[in-house]
Amino acid sequence: MVLVVVGKAFVLSKQYSDKLSQDVTRGVRRRHSEGVAGGTYKHGYDTDASGRFIPHETNFNLICDAWVMRRDGKSLKAIAKYMNDSGYARTYKEDSKHGKAGQKSFMNDKTLSAQVFPEPFYYGILIQKGKPIDLREIPGYNFQPATDEETYNIVQAMTGRAATERKRKIFKPLVGMVVCDYYQRRMVAQTPLSGRKSEKMRILSYRCDYANCPRKRKELNLSQSVRANVVFDFMYGMLKDFKVTRADYDKLQQRLASTNSAKLQDLSVKIHSKQGALKSIERQVKELSLKIINIDPTSAIYKANEGHINDLEVQREELQSEIAKLQSQLTDPAKDNLSFEEFLNVANNADLHLRAADVAAKDRIARLIYLNVAVDDQKVVDYQIREPFKTYFKLHSISHGRGDKT
Ligand SMILES: [Zn+2]
Repeated sequence: MVLVVVGKAFVLSKQYSDKLSQDVTRGVRRRHSEGVAGGTYKHGYDTDASGRFIPHETNFNLICDAWVMRRDGKSLKAIAKYMNDSGYARTYKEDSKHGKAGQKSFMNDKTLSAQVFPEPFYYGILIQKGKPIDLREIPGYNFQPATDEETYNIVQAMTGRAATERKRKIFKPLVGMVVCDYYQRRMVAQTPLSGRKSEKMRILSYRCDYANCPRKRKELNLSQSVRANVVFDFMYGMLKDFKVTRADYDKLQQRLASTNSAKLQDLSVKIHSKQGALKSIERQVKELSLKIINIDPTSAIYKANEGHINDLEVQREELQSEIAKLQSQLTDPAKDNLSFEEFLNVANNADLHLRAADVAAKDRIARLIYLNVAVDDQKVVDYQIREPFKTYFKLHSISHGRGDKT
């Protein structure tokens, strides 16, 4: 996964540098005499009398080291520290816009990331007025690059990766699945620091953020959040001793199919009935409209009929939306169903799988089984599960119930 990302970023920067070389060739042809500093400062370099970049006596080697360190994965802060500890310093000249003459500034991570590592100058490509100039190819220039193109490209690929790693947040499982039982709304996953000063750690919990939730009423003394292990312990307990075979699965599927076909039958009848009503209403509207078309609009008959037509129009709209709703349910039952292999993988030893899995895998397994779980301030009080787990647990609790009665 990481390799793919790196490869991609690398390819992108190679394309970029290919494009750059083409531009460079064209640029060099046109502007042979250029490549002078023109007021721009480059870390690790001085300028000679004609404005060309020459290595600074002490800083140049440190800039070269910086590129090697970066390529080898050292952090920006570590590189800056190494450079400063080794005597890196920029001394401002009299005509500098940025500092007083003789004033010194040192290297830091921000300067490295903004002014050093993105710059192709350090391998020989000076961008001037938006145009690249290959300093290595200017006759008599004798430019000394601080790095080579390959290192430059590797560092560009790394920079992109480091940026995405910074943005990546801590993975939180069961987001959107834990519901507050007091307010019937989704809770927010949080990882606040807790524990004593010396042993602080982040513990995952779910918090209700709704101002109207009873949790917010102090006199009720309800806890504001529920720890994730409460939710997972509930799942382990529920899934313990859960064993299925092909025969079980087939039985579940049969039962599901028959409930589904009963549901389908029921829905089809309802839809048919409502479609009949709709046809009748549409016919009445049409007949009434034709009937009053030649009647004086101010007459009582016209007004009565018009009122009737309006009522029918309202009914027609209601029927249409009911039919649409019923039709959307027709495709629903099969949606959350798992194949036997999927079901078997998850179902047998589900509690052990869930226990052993890392946080991301716990999340995936839990989502295969549960739609959501509702918690009060202590424990899980309700849940919704997917098929065929749903039917399995229904059958299980039914047989349990019978056993209790006898
Ligand atoms: Zn709540």
